[in-house]
Amino acid sequence: MFPIERIRADFPILQRTVHGKPLVYFDNAATSQTPQMVIDAIVEYYSKYNANIHRGVHTLSQEATDKYEEARLKIQKHLNAAKAYEIIFTAGTTHGINMVASGFSELLKSGDEVIVSALEHHSNIVPWQMLCQKTGGVLKVIPMLDNGTLDMDAYENLVTSKTKLVFCNHVSNALGTINPIKKLIAKAHAVGAAVLIDGAQAAPHIKPDMQDLDADFYVLSAHKICGPTGVGVLYGKEAWLQKLPPYQGGGEMIETVTFEKTTYAGLPHKFEAGTPNICGGIAFGAALDYMNAIGFDAIAAYEHELLAYGTEKLQEIEGLRIYGTADKTAVISFNIEGIHPYDIGAILDKLGVAVRTGHHCAQPIMAFYNIPGTVRASFAFYNTKAEIDVLVAAVKKAQMMLS
Ligand SMILES: *Cc1c(COP(=O)(O)O)cnc(C)c1O
Repeated sequence: MFPIERIRADFPILQRTVHGKPLVYFDNAATSQTPQMVIDAIVEYYSKYNANIHRGVHTLSQEATDKYEEARLKIQKHLNAAKAYEIIFTAGTTHGINMVASGFSELLKSGDEVIVSALEHHSNIVPWQMLCQKTGGVLKVIPMLDNGTLDMDAYENLVTSKTKLVFCNHVSNALGTINPIKKLIAKAHAVGAAVLIDGAQAAPHIKPDMQDLDADFYVLSAHKICGPTGVGVLYGKEAWLQKLPPYQGGGEMIETVTFEKTTYAGLPHKFEAGTPNICGGIAFGAALDYMNAIGFDAIAAYEHELLAYGTEKLQEIEGLRIYGTADKTAVISFNIEGIHPYDIGAILDKLGVAVRTGHHCAQPIMAFYNIPGTVRASFAFYNTKAEIDVLVAAVKKAQMMLS
C-alpha cells in the first residue's frame, strides 16, 4: 500500500484552501510542492550555519562546504554518475542548457548539423537557434506523430556524419510522452555526435541512470522534484566538460589570476563561478533523500494508477480530447471542443483546482495540433483519486457554464 496519508501530511501547503475550497494542486509539471523536511533543511541552513563555501577556514564555512559537497554526492548517486565532479550545480534546467550551448559556440563549425526534437520546451530550442545563428550551424528537427511521440524513423534519416549535437527531452512537459532516449543516444554516438537530454520533466518520476543511458549531458531543476527554485544540475561526461570552455568568469572558477593570464580551476569549479545557491543545493539533496525514501518505483506505480484513473474519468466527458496518448508520465493535456483552455482554467481555479493552461512553453507542439494551447493536469505522488474526482466535476461544471 502506498502511504498516501502519511505523504500528504508531509506537505503543509496541501492543507490550504483557495477561494474557500480545498486546494487541488495539479500543476506539478510547472513546479512541485515542498515537503516539511526540505523546508526544515532551508530553515536549518539559515539559522545554524549560513556561510560562504570553499574559502573560509572558520567552522561555519566548513560546515556549509561539507553539506554542499554532500548534496553533490547525493545527486551523483541518484543519477549514477561516474564521478562527483561531473555534477555541476546550476540555477536550473534553462541555465544548464545555456551553459552547454554557449560552450559549443566555440566548438561548432559552419555547416555542422544540430538536431532537436519537435517535442521540446522553448528552453531546449532557443539556445540552439542562437548557437546556430552564431556559428553557421544548421538546425534540424525530429518530427512528431499524432500520438505525441517522436518519429524515430525520420530521426534515423536525419543523423549523418554532419551531425554534431542532438537535443531531446526525456519526458515532454506539454504531453508527458516518455521519449526513447537510450535509442536516440546510441544512434547519435554512432556518428560521434554529443547528446544533451533535458531531464526536467523526467526527474520527478524516473530515476535516470547516466552510465546506462550514456548521455553526454543531462540537465534538471530541483523545483520540479520537491526542491527549491533557482537551483539545478548539469551532468556532463568528464571528457566533454574538459573540452567545453567555462561559461562565466569570476571567483571560485579560477586556479590563478594575474592581469596577463588566468588559469581555470578543475571540475566542477570551472563551471561554478561566483557564490552559488548554497542553501538551494543542500535543500535539493534533502529533496532527493525524501523522494528516494519513498522510492521511485513506488512513486511511478502510484502515479500510473492516478493517470489511468484520470484518463478514464476525463474521457467520459463529451467533446474532450486528450493530446499525447503514448507511454507517458502522469500528465493529461486536454481540450474541450469549442472552449478556450484559458476559460476552463479560470473556472477550475475558482473551484480550488490548479492546472496550467496555454502552450506550456512548447509552441511547436501546439502548432502541430493546430490549437492555441491545452489544459494540462499534471499529477504528483501526493495527489489522490478523490482529487481527480474534484477535477472531473469541475471540468464538467466549466463545460456547462461555457457552452
Ligand atoms: C520546466 C522545464 C524546463 C525549464 O526549467 P527551469 O527550471 O524553468 O529552467 C525545461 N524543460 C522542460 C522539459 C521543463 O519541464
